[in-house]
Amino acid sequence: MRALRLVFFSCVALLLLVGCGGETATESDKLNVVATTGQLHDTVSNIAGDAVVLTGLLGPGIDPHAYKPTQKARRALDAADVIFYNGLFLEAGMGEVLDQLAETGEKAAVVAVGDNLDAEQLLGWEGYDYDPHVWNDPLLWRDVVTQVRDTLVTADPDNADLYERNAAAYLAEIEATHDELTALYDSIPADKRVIITAHDAFGYLARTYGLDVKGLQGISTESKASANDVITLADFIVEREIPAIFVESSVSKDAVEAVQAAVQDRGFNVVIGGELLSDALGEEGSDGATYLGMLRYNAQTITDALKK
Ligand SMILES: [Zn+2]
Repeated sequence: MRALRLVFFSCVALLLLVGCGGETATESDKLNVVATTGQLHDTVSNIAGDAVVLTGLLGPGIDPHAYKPTQKARRALDAADVIFYNGLFLEAGMGEVLDQLAETGEKAAVVAVGDNLDAEQLLGWEGYDYDPHVWNDPLLWRDVVTQVRDTLVTADPDNADLYERNAAAYLAEIEATHDELTALYDSIPADKRVIITAHDAFGYLARTYGLDVKGLQGISTESKASANDVITLADFIVEREIPAIFVESSVSKDAVEAVQAAVQDRGFNVVIGGELLSDALGEEGSDGATYLGMLRYNAQTITDALKK
């Protein structure tokens, strides 16, 4: 009796501390995961659900090329068990921090998803080894889904079934979205299939859906467009009678507006066809707030503007 009472009281004491036989995992038991870009954050979220504590670093409108980690971001990175980042020098201002964290060997995993893709599938770029905007090819992004799944399964085998199930469902959703995008882009007349933006973020999209792409600043937002670039692009737009050019949520609109003005000087009118989500997801609650929503939003915006 005395022993039973002891068990009872220790259980009450335990209940007060952590809960006795109730919820199986508390927040602190869960894997702590950080993802840099919105695209990656949403992908991890689809696979992990609420089985992990997930933090995203780059919110809507944030330019990953120029981003430097804040104090808060540093704390999140330090506390993480697993870090997913795009790699291929997308997060140029975070490279050193991420390398250091990987070198400590204290993390369960630090994964540069882009660096792990098959190099033959990657586009090259002047001044860089590879074009880092790999999310714009959803079929290529499927490999990122499997990387995230496998990393989580290894780091947290108790939830392996959940990660595998969620990843399979998400892969099917990505493939269905790809079919939708194919139909949309195919509806643009052949001679108008050109995406003109401030920086070249849509190379993979152009390759996947058979469009041309022209960016003013090249692949990174770190270099500035010259007056000569503006003139060359304006001449091209006039010659091809391209109806619309696009601004981006994470890049200054000045360069695109300069092109529009130069086109007008040449007696042709090109409209700003809308704001594309190139490197960051849309605001919470908007059509582009998820990775697949972003792809659909861009496809709709581009086709609406170029079909006119
Ligand atoms: Zn970019």
